[in-house]
Amino acid sequence: MATLRIKQITTELLDIPIKRPHQFSTEKVADKSFVLIRLELSNGVVGIGEGTTPGIWWNGESVETMKLVIDRYAAPLLLEEDPTQNERLLQKLNRQIRGNGFAKATVEMAMFDALGKTYGVPVHQLLGGLNREKIPVRWALASGTPEGDIEEAKSLAGSGTYANFKTKSGKETPEDDAKRNIQIAEGIRGQSTIGIDPNGSWDRITAMKWMDAFFDAGIDFLEQPLPPEDIEGLALLSAMKKVPVMADESLGSVHDALRLAEARAADIFSLKIHKSGGMKNTVKIAGIAEAAGISCFGGTSLESSIGTAACLHAYASIPNLDYGCELFGPGWLADDPVKNPLTIKDGYILVPDGPGLGVELDEAKIEQYRRAEQKGVLIR
Ligand SMILES: [Mg+2]
Repeated sequence: MATLRIKQITTELLDIPIKRPHQFSTEKVADKSFVLIRLELSNGVVGIGEGTTPGIWWNGESVETMKLVIDRYAAPLLLEEDPTQNERLLQKLNRQIRGNGFAKATVEMAMFDALGKTYGVPVHQLLGGLNREKIPVRWALASGTPEGDIEEAKSLAGSGTYANFKTKSGKETPEDDAKRNIQIAEGIRGQSTIGIDPNGSWDRITAMKWMDAFFDAGIDFLEQPLPPEDIEGLALLSAMKKVPVMADESLGSVHDALRLAEARAADIFSLKIHKSGGMKNTVKIAGIAEAAGISCFGGTSLESSIGTAACLHAYASIPNLDYGCELFGPGWLADDPVKNPLTIKDGYILVPDGPGLGVELDEAKIEQYRRAEQKGVLIR
């Protein structure tokens, strides 16, 4: 067989509505933007991938920066390269483009999809194979009021979809946030549980002061309570041995993972393929966690079924995913740009088993949600 080559890389922006406005610590959003990538090989196989972020506030990248970085810088480095040399190509991108993990993860996703389709195997087989066929999945409560969140949690927990939950904090004062979370945890006690994610918006004293109350309320974990740079503060909270402390924004690269492990600054790593530059790096980070006795949680950048499938292939291949995942993106969007959306059932999300990512684009929906100024024009 002639050596495979990457022949063409194209990108386009999509804006897909969400079911209900979602309150992050910094902004409320009503739709979600994506960069869709198509990577064509010399054998005619087209791999797809998707880049998305919670927002530019999260780590400085946006779908617009991802599109620019892929079109202008990453694509020229990859054309005519051999896609089977995945690791070498990722190193090439890293040497020539600093940072921009979300953009790199998007490119890697399309490469893995194309390779899986070429070999006729699901991507998880290219990452070491399955440790599990389905993963417990949490839903994010973000109705805006504790009463609304309690009602939503009770209704979902009884409906055969999501069994456990996460809350977002950071819009109110840390003190009010803490009280609200305890109210929600107490309100659903016996039926379900929550983890708390203030997205780095609290301070050390608030987190320490409320730790005993969080523990008593049965809260599962405290995710990134402090600013990403405050590794020492996270270590102080972890040392309390109360509610497990999760690192999210503090953890991007494999080097971050080693630093956090050495500083004993996290009990749990929130994995995310985009922030870490792809599935391969995510699996490497899980390896560092495994050696350090740190558990993993499968985080989300709120992907559609395309990016969520990529997350699932990576997460399902690692052994220490002790806290399940939060891959609720496909259930949160009002529509999904694939013909075969992922399945969430009885508190679990199922790992797709078709070739590549295992999802198929719905071209009519891509046309429908393509960003207005790009309608009719596929930008190289
Ligand atoms: Mg988070």
